[in-house]
Amino acid sequence: RLAASRAASHEPAFMTDGTRIEVVANLGGPADVAAALENGAEGCGLMRSEFLFLDRATAPSEDEQLEHYQAIATGLEGRPLIIRTLDAGADKDVPYVGLPREDNPALGMRGVRMSLWQPDLLRTQIRAILRVEPFGQAKLLLPMVATLEDLRRVRRVIDEEMQSLGRTTPIEVGIMVEVPSAALTASQFAREADFFSVGTNDLTQYTLAMDRMSSHLADQLDPFHPAVLRLIGLAAEGAKAHGRWVGVCGSLASFPKAAPLLIGLGVTELSATAGAIPEIKALVRTLDRKRCAEIAQEALKCESGEAVRHLVATVWPEV
Ligand code: PEP
Ligand code: MG
Repeated sequence: RLAASRAASHEPAFMTDGTRIEVVANLGGPADVAAALENGAEGCGLMRSEFLFLDRATAPSEDEQLEHYQAIATGLEGRPLIIRTLDAGADKDVPYVGLPREDNPALGMRGVRMSLWQPDLLRTQIRAILRVEPFGQAKLLLPMVATLEDLRRVRRVIDEEMQSLGRTTPIEVGIMVEVPSAALTASQFAREADFFSVGTNDLTQYTLAMDRMSSHLADQLDPFHPAVLRLIGLAAEGAKAHGRWVGVCGSLASFPKAAPLLIGLGVTELSATAGAIPEIKALVRTLDRKRCAEIAQEALKCESGEAVRHLVATVWPEV
């Protein structure tokens, strides 16, 4: 185990070659901020806004949302806050939206698709996010983007609400890379999205065509699978071509073993559960970027997720 001292966990993490890796936290709401900061989070890479929308009879108003987002932004004391727009549908049911009954909800009206199907809900949420102070701290992240048209349609709503609020400085808008199409066409998305955040939970589900809710497939649903890593590599290449950055906010980012591979594929931000942050930072400080890139290329040639983990354990026995 790597020694992760408390003091060091509050410092930024630089690799041995000087590359900085941002280590941030996933948050579900204001109650999670304290633990994130105690563990040394440099901000929030994924705020899952859906928790504010679940288990209630009607949607939260613009002011209620603003209060919620502002509490998180204020709690983070100026550190970056990436707010994901409502990612409902599939396993996260929001009854008042009146989603259609579908045979395959994971392939149906969920994430940004649901938002575009109910644009009033999206519009209200975007307005609340645009009102968070100081402007620029909060960034927008769109879930389940599969086509450029998804992104363009949301951008139109953002532009309209920016105008109506008299905002002239643009807000940063990123997409979740969690559908294989987004990774495969990353260089096109990178022209129009400010950053990418890889959702390895859904990316693994859709790449391996294994339902993340299925208990029968749970041991095969492996985010270390080389097919998933390849798609992350493609996302990073596409982003780099347009000077965009790539983070990972799915559960893969919380496994220290994944950090050298993700960094080696070109990822520069890891958004993890708070408790994993000190160890990830301690590990990052021992890594060399060139070496990570070499091993990541080897990992892509492995035949299974298990082989990938074995490779990492051979090269970095301490993780
Ligand atoms: C993911 O899919 O990896 C992700 C971060 O989003 P969620 O788990 O909320 O679907
Ligand atoms: Mg997801």
